[in-house]
Amino acid sequence: MPRPLTPGDLIHGYAFGAFGRDSYDCRRIEAVGPDWIVTRDDTGATEFVSNRRSLELCQQARDEPCKAVNYGDSPCPFTAPSQGAPR
Ligand SMILES: [Zn+2]
Repeated sequence: MPRPLTPGDLIHGYAFGAFGRDSYDCRRIEAVGPDWIVTRDDTGATEFVSNRRSLELCQQARDEPCKAVNYGDSPCPFTAPSQGAPR
């Protein structure tokens, strides 16, 4: 049983189509309810997800590394704080 979705979790990229077939944006989970989540991308746009299939896909995609670079996109807006931090 995978860990439940939690605020602050990152969902990178396509997420198996959880946000639709044309959505490749990385997102951070802002809020979690019993059967819904709200995500926000780096432009500040929010998305409400409440259908069970999409939630399962989000859960699967959560721990995937970011593939933004593979698509030639700009670097992930949600890289971990430990990466690229000045020493
Ligand atoms: Zn990403």
